[in-house]
Amino acid sequence: MDDQLLKQSLCKTMKELYSEKILTDIGGNLSFRSVEETDKFWITPSGLKKDLVEPKDLIQMTLHGEIVKEHSTYSPSVEWPMHLRVYQEDEDFRFIIHSHAPLATAVSILENPPEFQPFTAELAFLVPEVVIVPYERSGSKELGEAVATALWDSQVLILQNHGVISVSEESFQRAAIKTRALEEYLQLYLNAKQFEGKLRRFPDWD
Ligand code: 13P
Ligand code: ZN
Repeated sequence: MDDQLLKQSLCKTMKELYSEKILTDIGGNLSFRSVEETDKFWITPSGLKKDLVEPKDLIQMTLHGEIVKEHSTYSPSVEWPMHLRVYQEDEDFRFIIHSHAPLATAVSILENPPEFQPFTAELAFLVPEVVIVPYERSGSKELGEAVATALWDSQVLILQNHGVISVSEESFQRAAIKTRALEEYLQLYLNAKQFEGKLRRFPDWD
């Protein structure tokens, strides 16, 4: 795959996630590491309605935080320091989706979130742990630091009082699957809580 195909894949994923309400009009951003120049990445523009982003709108940045000017007239997403920090953390990280997925964002504002544990084999595989990254300001270097550290526990993370970030080494599809699995996990938890009785531990999990 070259960068042009990946730009199309980014825009397709964005439209899908927008139609699923995982991205909102103003919430979320995506990026990928360039395959042609691995010390650069492409990121979505700031503030543009999320279902309207097209390949030509993407901004290229270096891993030093400089914008490669000739490609787009837009400013990069305000979260570029977080994306950049993830790419610096491990050269295998190639695809990032930051979203405001509704259930995970709801959990992100709970003062005392419940103890979650995986309930089914698929969820245990995709979301081994529900990790909540302590609050740091949107767009700050500190948010990038906190995310980079937490990524060693899980590649899909809840950002306190904000949203979600998921990272993949393989594809946007894979990063999107992890984000959706987190939502499915939380929905399953909510559904089960409507019945009486304790939740059953997943037997293959210790
Ligand atoms: P951008 O439109 O600048 O990407 O910001 C959206 C967002 O989700 C900030 O956290
Ligand atoms: Zn956000």
